Amino acid sequence: VADQLNSSGFLRTQGLIGGKWIDAYDGKTLKVHNPANGEVIANVSCMGVRETNDAIASAYAAFKSWSKLTAAERSKCLRKWYDLIVAHKEELGQLITLEQGKPLKEAIGEVSYSASFIEFFAEEAKRVYGDIIPATLSDRRLFVLKQPVGVVGTITPWNFPLAMITRKVGPALACGCTVVIKPSELTPLTALAAAELSLQAGIPPGAVNVVMGNASEIGDALIASPQVRKITFTGSTAVGKKLMAGAAGTVKKVSLELGGNAPCIIFDDADLDVAIKGTLATKFRNSGQTCVCANRIIVQEGIYDKFADAFSNIVQKMQVGDGFHEGVSQGPLINEAAVQKVESFLQDAKLKGAKVLLGGKRHSLGMTFYEPTIITDVKSEMLISREEVFGPVAPLLRFKTEEEAINIANDTNAGLAAYVFTSNMQRSWRISEALEYGIVGVNEGLVSTEVAPFGGFKQSGLGREGSKYGMDEYLEIKYVCLGNM
Ligand code: ADP
Repeated sequence: VADQLNSSGFLRTQGLIGGKWIDAYDGKTLKVHNPANGEVIANVSCMGVRETNDAIASAYAAFKSWSKLTAAERSKCLRKWYDLIVAHKEELGQLITLEQGKPLKEAIGEVSYSASFIEFFAEEAKRVYGDIIPATLSDRRLFVLKQPVGVVGTITPWNFPLAMITRKVGPALACGCTVVIKPSELTPLTALAAAELSLQAGIPPGAVNVVMGNASEIGDALIASPQVRKITFTGSTAVGKKLMAGAAGTVKKVSLELGGNAPCIIFDDADLDVAIKGTLATKFRNSGQTCVCANRIIVQEGIYDKFADAFSNIVQKMQVGDGFHEGVSQGPLINEAAVQKVESFLQDAKLKGAKVLLGGKRHSLGMTFYEPTIITDVKSEMLISREEVFGPVAPLLRFKTEEEAINIANDTNAGLAAYVFTSNMQRSWRISEALEYGIVGVNEGLVSTEVAPFGGFKQSGLGREGSKYGMDEYLEIKYVCLGNM
């Protein structure tokens, strides 16, 4: 597959600065691995401060003209980029499976989801309205303009190598901003292929730049530059806090999509089939490696045993393996550290009284494959309830009353996504309002869409992505007072 992608021009290994494909200035490279077999897919340029500063300078220069285009002109470029991504969804999907590991069908699904942000924001570009405010003095007129913030530093993770980029770059470009993208060093290939398509779409050189390599060097250069007016980040809470603190130095705008600890609450009155289907989707998508994956499955005592039985019947049928193999729904975890984290959480849970109902160990395939796992008798004080496991482990907690369920669900510093399964309409409203989360799925496990706001409460982040609200993150509000009329 890698050879095929290479010969069709989809395997790019250099960074993109000012519309030119460029090696690291010192010639350094870093290896990109296929997590399913450990093979090296490519050696990509390993960049640092100097390349990042040049990428910022290119973005700054491009901003002057890109921001001056009409919204319709920018919209056309974005629409063309969308068309190209859709036309090449097979190749992009293959790249995602190669470097990230998720099953090909899921990877192609990610490409469609990624493209939807470009399409949506191509449309939104034309709807950045200002305001006219009734003046307080008769010889004045008061206007509100919305203008692009400027150069945007975009730092993204490996779990959605394409979607996390388009969700940021789509609205940024639509508003008239230009970007310096730093993809995860684990999954730069998809980002580079998408950037090449942006050039083909006619997005001008310098509007989209990509640098990858030394994460903290690149991050520090983006943070230090007064020309970068906004940092948008998806990744770990620890790095997000560092970036937010760093951004204070130049008072940049910051958007953060950080870790979650999603509760998935199942009431006695839930439709069992709906609850199982929804929980399966939110828990095992991407082998549990998403920030909206159910991290705590909180089940009411009347349905607990029945749910555990039925859920394990379904989970044990899931096929683990290389994402390119037909029928596989569970790919490898991203790396050895990810498996060790799962193992340590499981050990802690077992020591504190949790029981393994299914799985509970590495898969016989070796590498970073892990058995789909269900553990029961999980308690709030266990590590697995406190932090994101980010793997295919479903911990089942037990509750008696609605109040208790809400308390368990909110007992965390995170606040990204939450799920509730119930047939009681009044309860679904009560719970939706009581949950301290930015996203609530009621009787539904897959809720992300380009048209709705995605983002967290508490330490899960700042700002929203997708939807009309996603535009605000890349706009400054300017008040103009016209006096002495
Ligand atoms: P994850 O657990 O998803 O790997 P990270 O926060 O480590 O989360 O990674 C998300 C993104 O942040 C990646 O692109 C990574 O390279 C980048 N990153 C990691 N450390 C830093 C840093 N010190 N400064 C800027 N970016 C960083």
